[in-house]
Amino acid sequence: MTRTRQQFTLVSFHAHPDDEALLTGGLLARSAAEGHRVVLVTATAGERGLADDREREGLAALRMVELAASAEVLGCARVVALGYADSGLHPDPADPTSFVNQDVARCAEELAQLLRQERADVLTIYDANGGYGHPDHVQVHRVGLLAARLAETPVVLEATVPGRAFTSVLRALAFLGHPVGGSAPLGTDRVFSHPRVITHRVRVRGALLQKRAAMAAHGSQRRGGNERRAMDRFVRLPLPIFWLVFGREWYVEHGREAPDRLDDPFASLRSRQIRPWRTRAGLDS
Ligand SMILES: [Zn+2]
Repeated sequence: MTRTRQQFTLVSFHAHPDDEALLTGGLLARSAAEGHRVVLVTATAGERGLADDREREGLAALRMVELAASAEVLGCARVVALGYADSGLHPDPADPTSFVNQDVARCAEELAQLLRQERADVLTIYDANGGYGHPDHVQVHRVGLLAARLAETPVVLEATVPGRAFTSVLRALAFLGHPVGGSAPLGTDRVFSHPRVITHRVRVRGALLQKRAAMAAHGSQRRGGNERRAMDRFVRLPLPIFWLVFGREWYVEHGREAPDRLDDPFASLRSRQIRPWRTRAGLDS
């Protein structure tokens, strides 16, 4: 059977190394496997991530190595580091290097230049809450949205999770006595997104092993500090439970009517509701 295949360029913008695996790993791996160009961008090196004092020095360099390994597993064609400082969960408002203290317009122009260079068809960012509310994640939303507007990137997908479903899964795991059930600091309605605004539920079962390997590549965040960390628990979940928790990814397409629950991240481009930067017609057998 022969059909026309379109190939697109997807740029995935993240705050810290490991976010790409947790939030979008399946989408990136699936897109790359389908022949699309996938470019990974990180605002910071995550140097304020999990670590004890002995590990703090050199953490940025280590996390960039881990990011490169994750990107390779996921099939990313290019990794770009914008080089801002990790703001941490509780930013110092006086720190001029922190990503969260940067001018949004200036950062957006920097990202827009990359989007133009790559002729990006899709940009992934985070939802307006920045998921669970990390200041750098909120900044990714602000910067990414403006950058897409400046570069006229046709599709913006906000990586998210349906808040209620996510907390239900965590409660079920907690009820079963699984330690992951108590590991997420969720407790309000102002995290992630309400189901009614979610446009995409992307099945990533075919990319599950790559997603897990990408998460596993972030070794510093599996062992950081003295405690056993959530990332390590996630990676060690039995595959059926890993599939339950990580086998789907959710996105809010900016400007698209919801809820469509689309599986195809490129649906708007394919249906020609939005004109892509470029399409390459090819044969797919
Ligand atoms: Zn992060």
